[in-house]
Amino acid sequence: MLAALTQAGFAGAEARVGHPCAGVIEVAVTSGDPASLREVLETHAGPSDLLVSAHDIDLPKVFVSDMDSTMIGQECIDELADFAGLKDHVSAITERAMRGELDFAAALAERVALLAGLGEETIQHCLTERITLMSEGKTLVATLKSLGCRTVLVTGGFHHFADPVAQMLGFDRVVANRLAVAGGKLSGTVTGPIVDSSVKEAVLREEVAAWGDGAVSMAAGDGANDIPMLQAATYGVAYHAKPKARATANGTVDRGDLTSILLLLGIAPEKWLTG
Ligand SMILES: [Mg+2]
Repeated sequence: MLAALTQAGFAGAEARVGHPCAGVIEVAVTSGDPASLREVLETHAGPSDLLVSAHDIDLPKVFVSDMDSTMIGQECIDELADFAGLKDHVSAITERAMRGELDFAAALAERVALLAGLGEETIQHCLTERITLMSEGKTLVATLKSLGCRTVLVTGGFHHFADPVAQMLGFDRVVANRLAVAGGKLSGTVTGPIVDSSVKEAVLREEVAAWGDGAVSMAAGDGANDIPMLQAATYGVAYHAKPKARATANGTVDRGDLTSILLLLGIAPEKWLTG
């Protein structure tokens, strides 16, 4: 791999195996741009979880994460739609929206409208029966918090799901959409402004600003609506992501669970908290 880097024009290529964490290879170069570096690494060492940075990797002060298919194993709206007998129809729209083929807000409104009339209690059934936490999310959040990092869950999904998920995982703050309910049934609309990609990015920037300019931040997500947030973060990690999100992030986790993010930050397993 070092020969490949040198051949690709990178000067001073060095690798440190097992430092700072076992199983992690740290590669340093003294010239070249991060995007080309990532391309060479993916060609010669992929598929692997990786993080590319122009500076030494530092611990983030802020971690902002997507929820659906990042912190939980499902897309909430697809599972909820199943209780209305509409999973195939709704999940097809979700898939296209997450790939960036549809306008997020319009696609959300269309799917939420299909849920009109569903009993609010269905959400609790859905949470209990369908929603599973992504492996090691608790460890990731607890460990980052123990190192002084603020953790925020920001989702184009709904408070009905995000509030209990955030509580289970230990997030400090939740930003989500709110499903309108009337007479115990979903109204088929969302109340308040929609949390879309621009809101996700704004939340990241607001959290960074609270620490002061230049504070190191990290974001994780898998969908097209995570792209601005991933790009705005110091470290944007595409987690088992759709192609568009993956292509724009400077970090990718394609193989491991959420603790891969800790390894990429150089946080060794002996420092992990299990939450
Ligand atoms: Mg997602």
